[in-house]
Amino acid sequence: MTSSGRFTRQQIAEIDVFLSAIERCEKQMRQLEAEQLAALARAMQCALGDDDDGGEARELAYRSLRLELATALQESEHTAERLLSTAYIAIEHLSAAHQALQAGEISLSHLRVIVDEGAPLTVRQSADSDAEQARKMAQYEREMLEFAREETPNRLRPIARRLAAAHSEQSMAERHAEALKRRCVRVIPADEGMADLVAHLPAEDAYAIRDLVQQLAKQALALSGNEVAEGPNAGVAPVTHVARDSRTRGEAGADVFRDLLLGSGTEVGEAASLPASRVRAHIQVVIPEHGAAELVGYGPIDSATAVRVAQGAAAWDRVTVDEAGGVISVDRYRPSAEMARFLAARDLHCRAPGCRVPAKRCDLDHTVDAVRGGATSTVNLAHLCRGHHMIKHHTDWQVSQGSDGVVTWVSPTGRRHLDRPPSRVRFRRADE
Ligand SMILES: [Zn+2]
Repeated sequence: MTSSGRFTRQQIAEIDVFLSAIERCEKQMRQLEAEQLAALARAMQCALGDDDDGGEARELAYRSLRLELATALQESEHTAERLLSTAYIAIEHLSAAHQALQAGEISLSHLRVIVDEGAPLTVRQSADSDAEQARKMAQYEREMLEFAREETPNRLRPIARRLAAAHSEQSMAERHAEALKRRCVRVIPADEGMADLVAHLPAEDAYAIRDLVQQLAKQALALSGNEVAEGPNAGVAPVTHVARDSRTRGEAGADVFRDLLLGSGTEVGEAASLPASRVRAHIQVVIPEHGAAELVGYGPIDSATAVRVAQGAAAWDRVTVDEAGGVISVDRYRPSAEMARFLAARDLHCRAPGCRVPAKRCDLDHTVDAVRGGATSTVNLAHLCRGHHMIKHHTDWQVSQGSDGVVTWVSPTGRRHLDRPPSRVRFRRADE
């Protein structure tokens, strides 16, 4: 291995062989997973029969099967239940997605996203006939598969939320009002003396809290010399725990979160010394002319919430898109600042395959270096996080960009991956 991270010809040849083996295994595993799902669905059908009376005997039969499956797989009944439910919905309602798994085109994780987010569509909606319901489901499935073949499961989830919302009858505001009643805070015990504190919150609040915690953590580390301070807020009041600082951002974030709730002292309830009021949390909301508003990184939110959030914003960018959802322009377009706004609206996050680091924390990279004649234009700039920036410049990955904002990544062994601008999905039409 050379110090630059470039491979020798010999290394590339060997890695290529191993990768081919890995790809072959993955394909076989996906095929087996598809077979297992089919068997699970058949087992369930066999145990429960066809009559859908929902009686006590049926419930007992289901529990018996679930326990049988859990013991057979050495898994919890919770895991067994999830498998059965995924299998049932996939086989009954999403046969094309199941076939795509069988063919190795998507993974089980992709299928799970399609099933989870599409589940509300499997419940018959009052105004719909059976045929109408099946039509909506088939359209959701068709659109999802297009994305699933190219995106990671993590990137697929917000897309699935958007598409399912577009096909759902109940208004998003109604569903949000119902979901809001389920907000709560809970503690899940974990190993080694740890526990997860989970707050189930309105999405805009959760994203704002995370952003605030990350900013405060960054400040805390900068003040203690762990990281170089950045941005206009750098250098404000000191944060707790300055003395011992070899903390990672994750550790510092957890400390800041605890301090915000419990106070920074050793005694619970002591007042926090964090400069919370001097840091503003940032969230990005997109409100299309037609269709659902969206919290970037999460997916669609109801319009009342979007408007409430928007009222607190200092400025808005108007983004114009073409029929397919490609970003054409951002209002008051000027090079530099305006170009950056355009690209932030187009990219939303790092443009490396599967990466979701928000554009705000990325660099604008010249796809073709300026010194090699690359233009400072929107067709030659794309957001890359620090890690992927390093990979692009110091390894044999080849990156190019088309006029439509599609970024092509070619690996050292010659494997090709297209990364399409995520913003195109926001303006897809719900009714074909
Ligand atoms: Zn990245």
